[in-house]
Amino acid sequence: MSIHLEPRTMPAPPVERPAISAPPVADNLFDVAVHQFHIAADRLGLDDGMRGILSHCEAELTVSFPVEMDDGSVRMFQGHRVQHNRGPGPTKGGIRYHQDVTLSEVKALAMWMTWKCAVVGLPYGGAKGGVRVDPKGLSLNEVQNLTRRYTSEIMPMIGPNKDIPAPDVNTNAQTMAWIMDTYSMHVGYSVPGVVTGKPIALGGSAGRNEATGRGCVYVIEEACRTTGLNLAGARVVVQGFGNAGATAARLIDELGATVIGVSDSGGGTWNPAGLDLDRVSRHKGATGSVRGYAEGEDISNRELLELPCEILIPAAMEGQIDTDNAHRIQARIIAEAANGPTSPEADEILFDRGITVLPDILANAGGVTVSYFEWVQALQAFPWTESDVNDRLRKIMRDSYRAVQATASEHHVHLRTAAMLLSVRRVAEFTRLRGIYP
Ligand code: GLU
Repeated sequence: MSIHLEPRTMPAPPVERPAISAPPVADNLFDVAVHQFHIAADRLGLDDGMRGILSHCEAELTVSFPVEMDDGSVRMFQGHRVQHNRGPGPTKGGIRYHQDVTLSEVKALAMWMTWKCAVVGLPYGGAKGGVRVDPKGLSLNEVQNLTRRYTSEIMPMIGPNKDIPAPDVNTNAQTMAWIMDTYSMHVGYSVPGVVTGKPIALGGSAGRNEATGRGCVYVIEEACRTTGLNLAGARVVVQGFGNAGATAARLIDELGATVIGVSDSGGGTWNPAGLDLDRVSRHKGATGSVRGYAEGEDISNRELLELPCEILIPAAMEGQIDTDNAHRIQARIIAEAANGPTSPEADEILFDRGITVLPDILANAGGVTVSYFEWVQALQAFPWTESDVNDRLRKIMRDSYRAVQATASEHHVHLRTAAMLLSVRRVAEFTRLRGIYP
């Protein structure tokens, strides 16, 4: 399908096709995202004007700000908020706190949010925020001060009809409560709709906290049907035992699979006979990491990915599966609960090896889908039950998977390119319909 802008449009913005350089990943992640976009754009036959529009982020804000620490000292922090595409409605995307946050990474994550919302059919464009900080080194009070000051700095960007943050790596419902309060104090009245992923008491949605992991498991169930893999008895490895990873591990375990390995930023643990996830959680609660769990053997995050298993769930950071280890992955299905865990070169290797990769923009779209439900419930002033939320989530994830799968079969491409074809086509379509102002 070719999408042409009217001839009177501005000269096409330069269409860059950046070469993908070697790691550090966070420094070139936007190049990876643009590279993936061009693969879809080539197949869709998008013209240069449309490529120029969709391969740039519409707005990028970088802020440097001071925070007073508990001991009275002052530390400077840098943060970003990026909106990739404001076409379909408000922009949407999480805020992460991590010591490796870069502008390139936040831009990539914002672009992926655009495709993610489009692939599951949500009326949002993509955005993302991040602060370069290791919050584990801060007290709760310091994290609150940082959150409130960062919120003030990005105030011009956000709003309930404009750009709606949500939790991401190292942020949670409490972080959203502080953002909502700070925003509300600035404007002079309560604005619960400025964030999603809020505590239920503040208008959060039932099921939001689990939604990313749950949505991922719904997609895995569908993929098992397509590939003929029996989930009951399948061996599962989960990299990242945070919100998404721990939920996915628990739910897949409830479906009869055996979780044999898990990890977090401190390292991993594995046991070929299966892990008792409650006990692993208690161990992490007591020590800060799953590593050192008595009934498992310690393993590095890198080695964990290569364990013999049927299903691998990368649920941590980007850049985990690359040309170095893609040949050694033993899983049959890789479900990307994390954003951007697989490099484009690794995608090809895995495809050639017959490994099914459930791409991030589909596999982890459950979080933003229930964020959308939270937003809709707020607009209706009518809370849904958790089973309502989960039933609707299941239907969206299942239908989206089937549409992506059908596109992959039709075009003989892997599921990432298929998901990109569907979402880029949708975003290009409304971009064409809206036209260019003025
Ligand atoms: N941070 C999540 C993601 O990467 C959720 C975003 C949202 O709910 O807006 O998809």
